[in-house]
Amino acid sequence: MAMLEGKVALVTGAGRGIGRGIAMLMAEHGAKVVVNDLGGDAAGEGQDVGPGQEVVDAIKAAGGEAVLNTDSVADWDAAHGMVQQALDTFGQIDAVVNNAGILRDRIFHKMSEEEWDAVINVHLKGCFNVARAAATPFRAQSSGAYVHMTSTSGIVGNFGQVNYGAAKLGIFALSKCIALDMSRYRVRSNCISPFAWSRLIGTIPTNTPEEEARVEKIKQMTPEKIAPMAAYLCSDAAEDVTGQVFGVRFNEIFLFGHPRPVRSVQRGEGWTPETIAEHAIPAMRPSFAELERSGDVFSWDPV
Ligand code: NAD
Repeated sequence: MAMLEGKVALVTGAGRGIGRGIAMLMAEHGAKVVVNDLGGDAAGEGQDVGPGQEVVDAIKAAGGEAVLNTDSVADWDAAHGMVQQALDTFGQIDAVVNNAGILRDRIFHKMSEEEWDAVINVHLKGCFNVARAAATPFRAQSSGAYVHMTSTSGIVGNFGQVNYGAAKLGIFALSKCIALDMSRYRVRSNCISPFAWSRLIGTIPTNTPEEEARVEKIKQMTPEKIAPMAAYLCSDAAEDVTGQVFGVRFNEIFLFGHPRPVRSVQRGEGWTPETIAEHAIPAMRPSFAELERSGDVFSWDPV
């Protein structure tokens, strides 16, 4: 039997890129899919039914079942509508893949309130909205799986992405806390930190032969490579996997650690600003985290 036979999944941002690959693969493995996509540009402007409809058509052409939803995950009522559409169309909901995303990159000291709000609303609030909408049926049926897309821009850090990094690390925490709150109902929540060539990273400059060669390598990381992990996490085979963060980059899969204390210092009489400077900081400095970006940590080419 196909691994997702009998399951109904809602995949947000499924008209393009990573979400499209996930919706297609989940359908191929037996899931009935609500394909959600607003169809805006990379900054989240505009709306177009085209990308989502194309995915629905492709799933149906391959013999699968899918239905289109073109609402925004950033809207609370619309998010509830997506879950309701799954219930109305297919009679149930078993999995939510929170994948919809936009970028509004800007160096921090020039970032506007609008750029902050737009990214937080689609990523962090969008994940909350859709997850919360599905929580009611998940709780009632004592089962359900969430997969949320996080990013090394939040887990590690990146230039010009204060809004996006904050949203993505927020999603890491959202997923863990959902996993804790809903474990009593056998509901699971995990994150994927994907690396894939898509329009969201398609703007990397290629001015030199070295940059061109690098981009050619990165282009091998097709969005479809992320889909098997998402499909697995939504299946019953992952019934004891929750609260985790997996990285997926081309043919590599990573398990991320979660921040824990790495060093402690204590003084019986407590601390003053002076003793922190003299004692605590020198003791902890060798264990300080480096100011790194994703490329410093993932310093080898995708395998
Ligand atoms: P993409 O732009 O190709 O796809 C994102 C889709 O989300 C688009 O089709 C867009 O129309 C849709 N969308 C945007 N706002 C929406 C909204 N409010 N409601 C519904 N749909 C909306 O991007 P992608 O690279 O496939 O990214 C997918 C996810 O993976 C995002 O959450 C992104 O942050 C994350 N991610 C991607 C990478 C990467 O390397 N591509 C790395 C880290 C994280």
